[in-house]
Amino acid sequence: MATRLNLVVLGKQGAGKGTQCKYLSERYAIPHISTGDMLRAAIKEKSSLGKKVESVLAAGDLVSDDLIIALINDRLHQPDAKNGALLDGCTRTIGQAEALEAELGPDGIDLCLNIDVPTALVIERLSSRRVCQECGETYRDTDPSAISGTCEKCGGDVIQRADDMPEAIAKRLELYEKDTAPLLGFYNERGLLATVDGNQDVAKVSSDIDAVLADRGLA
Ligand code: AMP
Repeated sequence: MATRLNLVVLGKQGAGKGTQCKYLSERYAIPHISTGDMLRAAIKEKSSLGKKVESVLAAGDLVSDDLIIALINDRLHQPDAKNGALLDGCTRTIGQAEALEAELGPDGIDLCLNIDVPTALVIERLSSRRVCQECGETYRDTDPSAISGTCEKCGGDVIQRADDMPEAIAKRLELYEKDTAPLLGFYNERGLLATVDGNQDVAKVSSDIDAVLADRGLA
């Protein structure tokens, strides 16, 4: 295995980035860093960052590059990220990708993994997603625990995220096309882009990712 593995994981909202990052984090013993999770935690804690970004997230808008860059640079310098990290949901704009490159150097990112899923499928996944407010476990709206509103794992409240409401989903997908899709070109130009088909079994997506990493000498 490579001594360091810094992966940027791209894909539309609902493509399965979080699920695959959980798998990869265990398999390669590197932290799963999700800017979305960090921002949601800040909102829950009612920190000053949380207060600044709460309405931005609820509307499905993007948080400013400056805030994200500060958040991610700080996180990447923590000791658990010394052998690499899985960057889930970051980078999201060309400005963020350039700032990350400036921070880590031209060889700082080992691969950009794009999990490709058709738009119609992510709309279906996001609109039926329910999440435990306490532990983050996700459910579909057809799961009994989601209907009763209680998490099977921890007993917390299972809710629909504000940004999984139809208007916010439309906004997030529009911003993905406008701001984030251009990153595929950014990383491709650097020879760092690999795309896997996310419209398959979770386990098959994971094994396709492992194969890509092995091919590139990263696993
Ligand atoms: P996610 O869970 O990755 O879908 O992120 C949830 C929300 O957090 C997004 O809709 C944005 O409002 C915000 N967010 C997360 N990561 C970023 C980022 N890298 N740049 C800007 N906004 C972000």
